[in-house]
Amino acid sequence: MNTLPWLNDNIVQWQKIIAAKQVPHAILLSGSKGLGKIELAHRMAHIALCENLSANGVCYKCSGCLLIKVGNHTDLSVIRAEKSVIKVDQIRMLTKKVVLSSTRNQYRVIIIENAELMNMASANALLKTLEEPPGKVILILTTNDFGSILATIKSRCVKISVSPPSYDIAFGWLKNQSEQSNEDIQSSLILANAAPLVAIDLLQNNTLNTVREMLSDLNQLTKNTKSILDVSKHWCINELYFNLPYMGAYFFTMLKASLNINTLHNNFHLNLQSNYAHVKDLDSKILKFLSQINKFIKRSETALKTELLVEELLINWRNDFK
Ligand SMILES: [Zn+2]
Repeated sequence: MNTLPWLNDNIVQWQKIIAAKQVPHAILLSGSKGLGKIELAHRMAHIALCENLSANGVCYKCSGCLLIKVGNHTDLSVIRAEKSVIKVDQIRMLTKKVVLSSTRNQYRVIIIENAELMNMASANALLKTLEEPPGKVILILTTNDFGSILATIKSRCVKISVSPPSYDIAFGWLKNQSEQSNEDIQSSLILANAAPLVAIDLLQNNTLNTVREMLSDLNQLTKNTKSILDVSKHWCINELYFNLPYMGAYFFTMLKASLNINTLHNNFHLNLQSNYAHVKDLDSKILKFLSQINKFIKRSETALKTELLVEELLINWRNDFK
């Protein structure tokens, strides 16, 4: 049962590939976070392991399907990061498995989730397997960061990029998943760069309201109704600055809207545009603030005093948007 409707085309296409028995040894699923690539990889594995696949999809009745359902199919292995790294030992275990033939005379499927988390040793170990692919093994790699995958790995995989769904599909799906207002759903899609699984997270974790609070802080800074110190305290004590990437997505959408690039319009950003209508060269200042946000994100990974970075960001904001 596919619950992510925007993956339907990928799934139908994969069913045809399996039916035609023209299965590649290795596939790399890429695309931004929150589009359901891991779900897609697991669906693809299920299709490959169903023993009674038809044009309608998997049968849900054969032993392959039942073993998948209980999470106990011996021909499916999943590798995911332990403490943010996929270790070389995990890849070596995989190498041992791929030489075994399927226990049910089907395919043997190995999924590597978030392959960008392989370190150099793991990537090189995987490369060896890809250089001499054994028969009837399907390796499915997923990644949020296509650029960080070794070129030699990429060149040995069939590349499938998963794109964000259309606004209508994403909106319809979110509407079914949550009780939130249309405006909240729209706003969360803006902050999520149209990735529905990120958007649902924003709605469920109240992050949307936190980002609204942060935007209101910025507005108050420019009006002098809050001080740099107040805002900085607020963002640091509660570690709100972790939400800055969403704020970046928000300003990026605002920029696209002002350049008339097809984008979502809703009150959320229309309000803000009117807040800063007085600012000269608004677009170039937003662009500058976006690059300051990106710089902040990079520097904050290693900074000892995040407070200082937050203050610097806020001072720059106030100078440009007052
Ligand atoms: Zn089946």
